[in-house]
Amino acid sequence: MFRKMIYIFIIAAVLFCLVPTRAFAEDAALEEQMWEDPCDRADILVFATHPDDEVLFMGGAIATYAAQGLRVQVVHMMNYSVSHPVREQERLDGMWTLGVRHLPLAGRFDASYSTGLMADGEIVGDNAVGDSALTEYVAEMIRRFKPQVVISHDLDGEYGHIRHRMLAAAVAEAVQHTMEEDFYPESAAEYGVWDVPKTYLHLYDENRIFLDLHSPLGGEQGEKTAIELAAEAYKKHVSQQWCWFYVSDDVNDPKSEQINAAIFGLFRSTVGPDTGNDMMENILSYDEQERIAAEEEAARIAEEKAALEKAEAERKAAEEARKQEEARRAAELKAAEEAAAKADRIAKACTIAALLLVTVFAHVIMPKLHRKR
Ligand SMILES: [Zn+2]
Repeated sequence: MFRKMIYIFIIAAVLFCLVPTRAFAEDAALEEQMWEDPCDRADILVFATHPDDEVLFMGGAIATYAAQGLRVQVVHMMNYSVSHPVREQERLDGMWTLGVRHLPLAGRFDASYSTGLMADGEIVGDNAVGDSALTEYVAEMIRRFKPQVVISHDLDGEYGHIRHRMLAAAVAEAVQHTMEEDFYPESAAEYGVWDVPKTYLHLYDENRIFLDLHSPLGGEQGEKTAIELAAEAYKKHVSQQWCWFYVSDDVNDPKSEQINAAIFGLFRSTVGPDTGNDMMENILSYDEQERIAAEEEAARIAEEKAALEKAEAERKAAEEARKQEEARRAAELKAAEEAAAKADRIAKACTIAALLLVTVFAHVIMPKLHRKR
């Protein structure tokens, strides 16, 4: 019996130790990537073709602006979640490492999209550069996320990749027309039209900016720099490590010329040219806009309250003045009435005195006078 109890005790102790450990481990794994919903409105919308493109070419920009607490939304063109699920996980791991917290959208186009190449490198059929289905998708995403800044690929596809070129061409076309209701009218009807204030294309050779990817990001990232985070994020794409690619912003490295993560050009702007190297120049983030709007609303409410209080005080003062005037008039009236009553009393007294005099004169004085005669 005693031995049996010891066995039960040991088994219970083992279970007690195992169960919480396992639950804790699961919690830790869950906590590792607690994605927020995709943005309602994005400060920065990144269009990338394949999982890892957003890290290699735009990872420095993403890490920089995510660390500033901006709303960064990433949208991919290709969708590998069914054909290559490992790449989908790598995609999420990479972006989590970059500091993205809003769930990135996997694309609408599978890995077999756009395969026919003509001799000159152009794609044939519906899947040509400037492809309408892709432009429609880009336009829909722009209208859905209403970004302040759009970032995408090099028009020449970095190292000439046809799908990078297709996406860059679709972005370049879409940003010039998403404010028009008749440009892919379905998404205009669903989300409303939107004119993107600033659009940057990777390596675009006009209006260039050079991002500083070597300063400590601060906040949660501490001393880490954007280029370090991008390099770390690229390592999450384990299945792609056979490629020659690497994260670089070194202008002196000719090999990295076509992948330099620091170089972008302002392709289109509705808010004027850049004077520095900041994609958010001339832009107020949505958080900032909301903070200002909330302050203005609070000021408006306070002003309204003060106006109401002032009107109430004026009403009370007017009421008080009216009451005082009424009291003054009542006092005046009372005094006049009292004076009239007093005059009346005096008149009556005079009359009585006169009557007394007449009576005395008639009954006392007059008879005496008669007798003397
Ligand atoms: Zn790619």
